[in-house]
Amino acid sequence: MEKRPFAELGLSPEVLKAVDKMGFEEASPIQTAVIPHGLAGRDVIGQSATGSGKTAAFAIPVIEKIDVSKRAVQALVLCPTRELAVQVAEEFGKLAYFKKGLLELPIYGGQSYERQYRGLAAGAQVVIGTPGRVMDHMQRGSLKLDNLKVVVLDEADRMLDMGFREDIEHILSSVPKSRQMLFFSATMPHLIQDLIKRHSRDPAWVRIEAHAANAPQVDQEFYEVDRRSKIEALTRLIDLHDFRYGIIFCSTKIMVDELDEHLHSRGYACDRLHGDLSQMQRDRVMEKFRRRAFEFLIATDVAARGLDVDDLEVVFNYDLPNDAEDYTHRIGRTGRAGKSGRAITFVSGREIYKLQSMAHYARLKISRGRVPSMGEVEEAREEVFLEKLRRLLDEKKFKSHDRIVDALLEQGYASTDIASALIHLLQGGATDAKAPAPAPAPERTAPKWVENKASAKSAPTARAMPTPRAEPPRSPAKSAAPESAPAPAAVSAKPTKKSYERKPRTGREPGFVTVSFNVGSAQLITPADLVGKVAGVTRLPAAVVGAIDIHENHTDADVAAEAAEIVIAKLEGIPLKGVKLKPALVTS
Ligand code: ADP
Ligand code: MG
Repeated sequence: MEKRPFAELGLSPEVLKAVDKMGFEEASPIQTAVIPHGLAGRDVIGQSATGSGKTAAFAIPVIEKIDVSKRAVQALVLCPTRELAVQVAEEFGKLAYFKKGLLELPIYGGQSYERQYRGLAAGAQVVIGTPGRVMDHMQRGSLKLDNLKVVVLDEADRMLDMGFREDIEHILSSVPKSRQMLFFSATMPHLIQDLIKRHSRDPAWVRIEAHAANAPQVDQEFYEVDRRSKIEALTRLIDLHDFRYGIIFCSTKIMVDELDEHLHSRGYACDRLHGDLSQMQRDRVMEKFRRRAFEFLIATDVAARGLDVDDLEVVFNYDLPNDAEDYTHRIGRTGRAGKSGRAITFVSGREIYKLQSMAHYARLKISRGRVPSMGEVEEAREEVFLEKLRRLLDEKKFKSHDRIVDALLEQGYASTDIASALIHLLQGGATDAKAPAPAPAPERTAPKWVENKASAKSAPTARAMPTPRAEPPRSPAKSAAPESAPAPAAVSAKPTKKSYERKPRTGREPGFVTVSFNVGSAQLITPADLVGKVAGVTRLPAAVVGAIDIHENHTDADVAAEAAEIVIAKLEGIPLKGVKLKPALVTS
């Protein structure tokens, strides 16, 4: 779609100076198409995607039409929400920066009438408001619309969705018949077409295809990461921001499968979508994703085409898209409906040049991000953990365990020590948002292990190890309540047989063997770190780990014999405190 320099659109020097000051290099397609009609006084219907620059498309002709010598409302902009009203008013302020004497005023519910009366009395010429509050002011007589020249409906589809239809009808039927109408909407359902028919004359219909839009509401970042460190960077960013709903784009089906495997083994609830799946399988995955039965959808561009999900928190470009169009298409899935979203792009090696040229071509603002250190992730998790704990305590939404607590108190333990010990035990698991959280996590609808069961079943890719059937996490207070820690059923259900060349050293308790890990006090490791990691990665109950001996450079942990092989295989290569784990069975 065509774009033109603002200078060719017949604008005043004041507005041209303003767009230049705002850093707009040329008019976006919707602006190129709408502004001339708007200036000519014609009614316009503008349909284009979020982020395509609709605000300036109507604000510029409106500003050009305002007679600043008149202190009367000459333009009315209706918006669905107060946030949008404020945002649009700000854009008006910037675009009219050099047009002396133009006053714009947002009016919306929730703000005092007093303030709005004052603004209206001061002679605002452009009023930007939510339909309800605009009606209020009309009825109170504080908003007079006799001098109105233009009415704008911004996000008309959303306003109707939000039930503003009657208010809008009322407002439109009480403004001067001679006014110009500008309708903007991302979609054009029948209700809107009907509204337009009744309130416009021979409107120019401007429709811009979605892919031409850039999506500036999306906070865009790129990270330079070595190809081999991508997974680590991905999981750190997910953990740091505590993302719960997003799409991760890969360039190939193989990458999708691989990443799905890796993320699963690290305890993330994800599923995948690519061309090798049957339509039925795809529908099922999509249906689950929409109802948020899992958190991250890993997909190729083709598979994700036509996928309609809203409210994604984040889109990851795990692999760089082919071109700017694919890029904007991908990231357009986050930050919809005026909400802010995030797009995170990984580049390795020379890909940075490709990203730069895409950014230049599509005029994208992508800032450089830095992969957080493990320490920063831990800190952020600790904060999340504290917050959860506080909320739990405040809302008292937990089962009481008086019997256990009383028993410990009776044995002479101080309550502060008991609490500290429990937190200590929990931290590796519960502050690690991805490990099965033994404490009830109120904001999660379905615990992760529930989903893991389902998706593990549907994943056709052969796993290196038998996937353990995850059980609901049992009480972590193994040592505190020995009677509640039988041999974990999840493990004994699938015993793994392997004849070891040498006999594994038996642990301190019967049924346990010892596994050595290459981290120790040198890395400030705590038992909770290790238990949390094991539980998080394997999805086995924390009780599979028994006694732990921390040495300077290694740690010996007793692990339930049936689980040892799974633990060793799953933790191989997984980082803990900056060290890649190399677990090994201790033999005697
Ligand atoms: P829409 O209403 O279509 O969702 P907005 O009007 O909110 O989009 O514009 C989105 C962003 O793009 C805003 O930050 C705006 O300042 C910016 N923008 C608008 N027009 C241009 C342009 N011609 N060049 C560069 N940025 C623009
Ligand atoms: Mg808009």
